Amino acid sequence: MQISGSALIGQRSSQRSVAGESAFHAIDPVSGAQLEPAFARTSAQDVALACELAAQAFDRYRETSLEQRAALLERIAACIVELGDALIERCVAETGLPRARVEGERGRTVGQLKLFAEVVRAGDFLGLRIDPAQPERKPAPRVDLRMRQIALGPVAVFGASNFPLAFSVAGGDTAAALAAGCPVVVKAHPAHPGTSELVGRAIQQAVRDCALPEGVFSLVFDDGIDAGVALVAHPHIKAVGFTGSRAGGLALMQLAARRPEPIPVYAEMSSINPVLLLPHALAKRAEAIGQAFAASLTLGTGQFCTNPGLILAIDGPDLQRFIDAAAAALETLPATPMLTAGIHGAYERGVERMQGQPGVEQAGAGAASRDACAHAGRSALFVTDAQVFAQQPALHDEIFGPASLVVRCPDAGTLQGIVEQLEGQLTIALHIDDADCDLARALLPTLERRAGRVLVNGFGTGVEVGHAMVHGGPFPATSDGRSTSVGSLAIARFLRPVSYQDMPDALLPAALRDGNPLDLRRSVNGAPG
Ligand code: NAP
Repeated sequence: MQISGSALIGQRSSQRSVAGESAFHAIDPVSGAQLEPAFARTSAQDVALACELAAQAFDRYRETSLEQRAALLERIAACIVELGDALIERCVAETGLPRARVEGERGRTVGQLKLFAEVVRAGDFLGLRIDPAQPERKPAPRVDLRMRQIALGPVAVFGASNFPLAFSVAGGDTAAALAAGCPVVVKAHPAHPGTSELVGRAIQQAVRDCALPEGVFSLVFDDGIDAGVALVAHPHIKAVGFTGSRAGGLALMQLAARRPEPIPVYAEMSSINPVLLLPHALAKRAEAIGQAFAASLTLGTGQFCTNPGLILAIDGPDLQRFIDAAAAALETLPATPMLTAGIHGAYERGVERMQGQPGVEQAGAGAASRDACAHAGRSALFVTDAQVFAQQPALHDEIFGPASLVVRCPDAGTLQGIVEQLEGQLTIALHIDDADCDLARALLPTLERRAGRVLVNGFGTGVEVGHAMVHGGPFPATSDGRSTSVGSLAIARFLRPVSYQDMPDALLPAALRDGNPLDLRRSVNGAPG
C-alpha cells in the first residue's frame, strides 16, 4: 500500500493543508534522514469535517448490534495483519525500534482489538440493571427503572510517540472507544506519520468492509499543535485519549475544561515508577535484582511510561551490591536510538541536570552506541540519599529515557515517608523475600494510595493486556486515576449511564426489554436476573 501523506477524513483522502504552511516529513532517527512522502498538515476545515462526519455517524454506530461492532474490531485486526511487511518496515524506519519489538507490538495491537471484540460480544460493559415497577408498594408505588451504559460520543485520540502501534492509531484508546460505540478521530503523532497512515487505511478499509458510516473513523496530521487544539475544541468531540508529556496532557486538560461544554481528558503523562528493594530480598539476591533492573531500565531505550526511574532501599552493603551489579550490567549495554531528536535532547538535558545536582553521584553509565546513530540514548544510574531527595523536588521528575536514581534510606520509616511524598505513579514495584512480608504489608496502604498497579518481584515495564490490568494512577501519572488505558476496563471511559423510567417495552433498547431477547447478563433488583 502506497503512503500518500494525506489525511483520512471518513472514506476520503485530503491533502488540504494549512494555508501558507509547507508539509512535514518523518525522520529516520538512526540516520537522521528525511523519509518520503511529505505529509500535509491537516487544515482546520478538514478537522471540522472529520468531527462533523463523526457526529453524523454516532447514532447509527452506537446502535449497531454487539456482533456488528465486534466484527468491525476483528476486521481492523485482520486488515492490520494484511499490511504485512510494509507496515513493519515503515515503522522500523520511522522509530528506530528493532524489528522484533515492532512485530511484537503489532501482535499486541491486534490482540487488543480482539480482546475488545470479546468484551463487546459478552455485553457486560452495558451494565444492564432493572428495578421493575412495584405498583402495590406503599406508601407510594415504585416506578419501572431500567439502566444501560451508552457511548459518550465522538472521541479524539492522540497517538503516542513511544508505542507507534499499541498506543497509536489503532491502539488501546481507539479500540476501547470503538468498542464502546464511539466514532474516533485520531491525531497522528508526527514522529511516525507513515505508520499512522498505513494503520489508518487499514481501519478505513475495515469500516468500508463492514458497511458502517464513514465518520466512524478519521485520521489527521500535524507536526505542531493546531490540528490537535482544533480537534479538542470542536463541539462534537465528547472525550479525549492522550499519552505523552505532562505539559501536553495538562494543556489539553485545560483546553477541554475551558470549552463551553467541558469534556473529560484521559491523559497518561508522567511517572517514575518507584522500585522498593526490601532488606531480605536484597540480602539474598542483590546481584540478580541489579541485573534484571538494568535490563528493564534499558528496554526500548527506556522510552516506556513504566520505566523504573527510582530505586528506594535501606542503605548498607547489600544495597551497594545491587548498585555495583546494576552498574556492571549497564556498562555492557550499548546506547540505542531514541525515537526523536526532541525526546533525545530532553533526555540528554535531564541527565546533565542530574549530573549537576549537589549530593547526587553517578554510579553507572551504558556503553556508547555500536552504530553511528543520530540520537542514541546512553543509560545513566545515579545515587543520592534520602535527605537530598526530600530537599530537591527536581529529583522527583521523570527523565524520559534509560536514567534512574537510587535513594539510600537510613530506615524503613524514611523509605515509607518518601513514598508518601511522591506524586501519583503508574506502578510501584516491591522486591521481597518471605521474611520481608511484614514490612511489605505495612507499606501496602501507602503504595495503593500512590499507584495504579503494585507489583512484586518484577518491574512495571511489561504491561499485560487483560481484564484485571490497571494502567493508570493518581495525577500526574494520569489525569483521572479512576480508569485505565490498557485492558478491557478502558471501555468504561467512553460510556455514560442512561436510565429509562416507565418506558413501554416497544420503546426500550432491546438489551433492556422484558424476556431478555439478547440473552445478556442483567441485574434485577440488584441481583443477577
Ligand atoms: P508530547 O510532546 O506530549 O506530544 C504528544 C502528542 O500531543 C503530539 O501529537 C503533540 O503534537 C500533541 N501535543 C502536545 N502538546 C500539545 C498541545 N499543547 N496542544 C495540542 N496538542 C499537543 O509527547 P512526545 O512528543 O511523545 O514526547 C515528548 C516528551 O513526552 C518526552 O520527552 C517524554 O518526556 C514525554 N512522554 C511521556 C510518555 C509517557 O508515557 N509518560 C510517553 C511519550 C512521551 P505535536 O507533536 O504535533 O506538537
